[in-house]
Amino acid sequence: MKEQIEKLVDLQNIEIETAKIQAKLDGVALKLESMDALVRELEEKLASETAQLESLKKKYREFDSESQMNLSRIKKSQEKLRSVKTNKEYQSILKEIEDIQGKNSLIEDEMINCLDEMEAAEREITLEKEKFFSQRDEVDHQKMEIEKEAEDNRKRLAELETEWKNFSAGIDTELMKKYIAVKAKVKYMAVAAVHGAVCQGCNLNIPPQLYNELQRFESLRFCPHCQRIIFWKA
Ligand SMILES: [Zn+2]
Repeated sequence: MKEQIEKLVDLQNIEIETAKIQAKLDGVALKLESMDALVRELEEKLASETAQLESLKKKYREFDSESQMNLSRIKKSQEKLRSVKTNKEYQSILKEIEDIQGKNSLIEDEMINCLDEMEAAEREITLEKEKFFSQRDEVDHQKMEIEKEAEDNRKRLAELETEWKNFSAGIDTELMKKYIAVKAKVKYMAVAAVHGAVCQGCNLNIPPQLYNELQRFESLRFCPHCQRIIFWKA
């Protein structure tokens, strides 16, 4: 019985390690997803700032063509001035030129504002780009390490599966059935050591009579409190 129990404990240790590794592997997908989300967020910010810069450039081009149009109108009016016959006509064209010049000066102010905003946006985009690229490199690097660790874990999992098969083959069928039944009930640690008359599964004392019997390893015994399979451990 002692040997059978020892095999069962080995089997249980394999299962505990398997569960730990499986939990790590389950967390990997989540971790990778959150890292991707971080990079995506920076990418979206960069895209929106680039779009904003494009719209500023468009606005600037519109102002510029309006200003060019006004300048050519002024030029035409100045040419007309040279051939006017009356003072009234002269004054009216002069007024027209002044009006256009006034409008154009406002447009030029807008163009200067636009250039300032474009410059600020370009600076911001340069910074954001640096941030984006360094974050992406960092994430790529971390991903590689995570993948490598996951690969090692998957290998270990396959090893544990083989070990489990080998160990379980050496365990008596009836004992195996009982082990599975107890495991279904207690979820964790179906086989518990009893150390100093205390069940390590539930931390309760077992009766002295049972404790004495345990030390002889004659038959399969269960903890009267938690129903785990118990064995004596010095
Ligand atoms: Zn117990």
